[in-house]
Amino acid sequence: MKIGCHVSIAGGIINAPERAADLGCEVFQMFTRSPQGGPAPKIDNEIIKKFKEEMKKRKQADCYIHAPYYINFASANPKTREASVRVVREELERGSLIGAKYVMTHLGSSKDMSREEAIKVTASGIRAVMMGYKGTTEFLLEISAGAGNVMGDTFEELEQVIGNDERIYVCIDSAHMFASGYDIKSKDGFNKTIDIIKNTIGLEKIKLIHANDSKVGLGDRKDRHNHIGDGKIGIEGFKNLIKVFSQVDFICETKPDKVKKDITKLKLLR
Ligand SMILES: [Zn+2]
Ligand SMILES: [Zn+2]
Repeated sequence: MKIGCHVSIAGGIINAPERAADLGCEVFQMFTRSPQGGPAPKIDNEIIKKFKEEMKKRKQADCYIHAPYYINFASANPKTREASVRVVREELERGSLIGAKYVMTHLGSSKDMSREEAIKVTASGIRAVMMGYKGTTEFLLEISAGAGNVMGDTFEELEQVIGNDERIYVCIDSAHMFASGYDIKSKDGFNKTIDIIKNTIGLEKIKLIHANDSKVGLGDRKDRHNHIGDGKIGIEGFKNLIKVFSQVDFICETKPDKVKKDITKLKLLR
């Protein structure tokens, strides 16, 4: 288990490993393009070389890529769905160029569609992303907090979307899970949650953890991150997670001013 956080790519991705090291990261996560939209900055051979050198120099074991926020595999607009497939595939290819281990994405939100239909189009979008893909970066779907019509807030739904595709994995976010109604704080609740995972996607599908405390309570269905130990999950929840997921890396997505402290806290718990 290695620990890190999401870091900024201001000035280019080649600056990310140094920034990560300064925050105490052993691994880190970043965007490779604006999360809000626009074309992706080119990753040429010079950038690839420099980035890989920086990874070594700053002692970063792995890096992970978060797909942009506008991805929506469940949109009623086929153009949006197609763009989502294209952009996530681009991120997987770009990740493979720089040696990133995973790309994770949110699934999006369904409107003007039944849940059943939304699951169907989401599943087909995910499969389209992987069609003919030969890269090395692996593909992770992120569990959501389940606000409004957001997809992928339960392990049952993630299982339905993944189907029997062995190349698609899951990133769990402690804040999202908790807000979606999975108690990871109490011993009993945590054991029940683990049983649900075992009976749906399976524990081995979980490749990465977004370690965020939650400003909102259990089942409140809102995505509001808080610093480790300062929220409704509390230190106990993170102790529970570390015990079961000792082989999985933890990435904090908390505010930059205190993320260094969050990383230190997780290292102590480990
Ligand atoms: Zn995310
Ligand atoms: Zn979140």
